[in-house]
This record gives sequence, structure tokens and C-alpha cells, in this order.
Amino acid sequence: MSRNDAITLLYIVSFALFIVGLRMLRGPRTAVRGNQVAAVGMAIAVIATLLKPGVGDWGLIAAGLVIGTAIGIPAARAVRMTAMPQMVALFNGVGGGAVALISVVEYREALKHGGNPELSVLIPILFAAIIGSISFWGSIVAFLKLQESLKGRFPIPRALNAVLVAVAVALAVALVAGTESELVFWLILLTAGLLGVLAVLPIGGADMPVVISTLNAFTGLSAAAAGVALDNTALIVAGMLVGASGSILTRQMAEAMNRSIGNVFFSGLGAGGPAAAATEGGTVRSTSAADVAIQLSYARLVVVVPGYGMAVAQAQRAVADLASELERRGVEVLYGIHPVAGRMPGHMNVLLAEADVPYENLKEMDDINGEFARTDVALVIGANDVTNPAARNVADSPIYGMPILDVDKAASVIVLKRSMSSGFAGIDNPLFYGEKTSMLFGDAKASVSEVLSEVQKV
Ligand code: NDP
Repeated sequence: MSRNDAITLLYIVSFALFIVGLRMLRGPRTAVRGNQVAAVGMAIAVIATLLKPGVGDWGLIAAGLVIGTAIGIPAARAVRMTAMPQMVALFNGVGGGAVALISVVEYREALKHGGNPELSVLIPILFAAIIGSISFWGSIVAFLKLQESLKGRFPIPRALNAVLVAVAVALAVALVAGTESELVFWLILLTAGLLGVLAVLPIGGADMPVVISTLNAFTGLSAAAAGVALDNTALIVAGMLVGASGSILTRQMAEAMNRSIGNVFFSGLGAGGPAAAATEGGTVRSTSAADVAIQLSYARLVVVVPGYGMAVAQAQRAVADLASELERRGVEVLYGIHPVAGRMPGHMNVLLAEADVPYENLKEMDDINGEFARTDVALVIGANDVTNPAARNVADSPIYGMPILDVDKAASVIVLKRSMSSGFAGIDNPLFYGEKTSMLFGDAKASVSEVLSEVQKV
């Protein structure tokens, strides 16, 4: 077998592992193993690439591997679950940036060796440069917004983005038509980068999950284009897998929020708006752990609705213990999981699986919403936006149209949070002022533990 055949074989093994790994990510039971399988695939792809003749400067490659590993492993280990979306945004941005840099290097090399590359290489390089640059700069802005280092509204006129798209495309067409200029190439990167920044700046926190998965899909497509330019099959396959899965995730999340992708990127909604007028003058009823314990103990069906606050408080084990105690007393306990509860897709499923909550008790939004009419107590733990009825009935609310968990249809609603502060979308929640709602103020973990000890006394 020649060296080239061996490299091709290794690439086939690597992308077979990517596909198997991706498939295993579909369920929480196999997800961790799936991640490991895909990582082995990636290691094989890197080795296969390094085996290529004339791969480059070994010293630089070794330095890159050491620096990347030294930063990546501790950062991934240290990151809190609640900060995972920022991490994903950052890693995704780095991927897009790497693709954009590859395109620069390839173009400069071609110029050094006699002018523009052939169109079959130039077009993918330009595609990779534009999309990679948008993805890098857009992800940096998404990171800063999620980190709350960039706050507030940035009303950027939509026409400006359209002008930037037109400029980037016109410059790319100039190169395709035969202009040979490194300066034009850098201008393309700059225009695309500016577009990435200005497209993401006006988008509000509530829409950030959709933005991140869209940028993720962009990075995948740009990597696939770089793979075409570099004639690297593993990069094409990996890029297409990221592009396709990112696109499907984007669509599913947009559907979960009842927004079209165009609406997310171009409407500037979800940027946080005025408090919903519906709650003005409303009264809030505060309750005690002992009262909550009595309500829960005598209920037939309790639906727990976890949100970001449960993750912050790390209350999942206490919640699972409370549920077990109630179940011992004959109470049915289900969990209503909103697709964007917390700060990343699947956040609540991961936390509750960690606390050994039986998977079959976790109900998706569409399945649990029909159950609230027969629910005695909806126990909202650190969730806010995903329960906000303004999404259903306040037409000028920034979250109007987003499907929510219909907790207000339960006979009684108990909300555990520390204060009357708003959630991620920055808006007031009329649920907290509802006639059937009582608030148990305090850190979710402390409150749930207190309720548990009160239940044990009943
Ligand atoms: P929210 O962010 O709407 O609300 C969380 C609530 O938790 C806050 O109101 C806060 O109130 C409370 N809280 C915070 N810390 C604690 C604590 N220690 N103990 C008790 N309560 C606490 O969360 P939701 O899960 O309802 O909604 C998710 C939001 O995040 C949506 O707007 C979604 O679009 C967005 N998002 C989702 C992503 C995803 O992929 N899932 C990614 C990025 C954003 P208080 O301060 O009073 O305690």
C-alpha cells in the first residue's frame, strides 16, 4: 500500500468515526461515548494530514499543538455548565478564524507561484474567507454578549449589512474575473468581518442560541470549502457534518422559539425591551417552605419546570431528592423541559441526568403542555422566560410568539427564585403576579432542601 493509499484509508476511518460519534450524540446515554468516538476520529484525521508529504514546518506544527492543547484542555475542564454557550461561541469562532487564515495563506502561496489559483480552487478559497471571517467576528460578538460584557441595544440599519454583502461579493467577483491582488483579498476579509460584527450586534440575548448554531453551521461550511481548496477529504466531510447538523439545530431552535431565521437576524427583537405593561400594579404573593411542602405532599401530579436558576444554584440533586420523597408518598412527579431552558440546548436534560432523574420523567414542551390542565402544582425552579405568558398574549413583548411552558394552566404555581429580577430576555414576567402563583424567594438549592425537610415532617 502506498503512503497516499494509507492516508486515504485513515481519512475514511476518521470520517466514519465522525458519523458514528454524531449518531451517538442523539441520546444522553450514549452522548459522552459519542463525543469520545468523534475525538478519536479527529485525532486520526490530524495524524493522516501530518503524514502527507511536504506538510510544512514541523516546529511550528508542534508549537501549535502544544499551545492549543495547553489552552483547550484546562479551559474545557474549568468552564461552568452555565457558561457553556460562551465556550461554544468562542471555540466556534476560533474554527472560523482558522479557516479564514488558511484561505489567506493559500491565496498568498498561489500569488507567489505565478498568480491567481485556478477557479476550482479560488472560488472555494473566497467562500471560505468570507464565511470564515463572518463566523469568527460574529462569534466573538456572541461571546461578549453572552458573557454580558456587551450590553444594550445596537440598532444597526439593515441596509448597511446589505451594502457590506454587496461589497464583499463584488470584490470576490473582481478576483474571480482575473484581478490579482492580496490587498483585495484582505479587504474581502475585512468587509466580511465587519458584516459578522454588525449582523450579530443588534441581536438580543433571547435569540443568541439560534445565532450561535447558525454561526456554527457557517463555520462547518467554510471548513468544507477550505477542504475543497486543500483537497482534504476529511475536512470536507467534517465541515459538511458540522454545516448540516448546525443547520438542522438552527431550524429546530428557531421553531422552538417560533421565529424564522430571517426574523432572528433582521428584526432586532429579543434585545430586551420594556417590562410588559400587563404586570403594572400587580401584587406578588410570597410563601414559605412549610406551605410549599404541604401543597406538594397533598398533590396528585407535580410538574417541575427547571430553568437557568436551577443550573446556577446547582440544585438538580436536591430537586431529584425532593421528587423521590414525593414519589414515595404517591405523588406523580414529571419534569417539563423547554428546548431553550438554561443556557444551551439540552442544558436541563444534562443536569437532571447527572442527578439520576429517570429519563422517561423528562417531558418535552409539546408533551407536557397538555398535562398542565390536570397538574396540581407547577414547581418552577429558577425558570423565567420559558414560562412567561407575555409570549402568548402581549403582542409588543420582545418574546411574543415564542412557545412557552403553560405553567399558568396548572391549579397552582410555585416559583422558586431569589428576587423579582428578570431572566435572560430582560423582561418582566406576568406569571409572578398571577392569582394562582406564590413565590418562594431564595437560592434554589437552599429553598428546595428546606422544602424537602418540611415534606419529611408532613
Ligand atoms: P431565565 O434566564 O429566563 O431566568 C432564570 C431565572 O433564574 C432568573 O430570573 C433568576 O432570577 C433565577 N436565578 C438565578 N440564579 C438563581 C439561584 N441561584 N436560585 C434561584 N433562582 C435563580 O431562564 P430560563 O431557563 O427560563 O430561560 C432561558 C433563557 O436563556 C431564554 O431567554 C433563552 O432564549 C436564553 N438562552 C438559552 C440558551 C439555550 O440554548 N438554552 C442559550 C442562550 C440563551 P433571580 O435573579 O431573581 O434569582
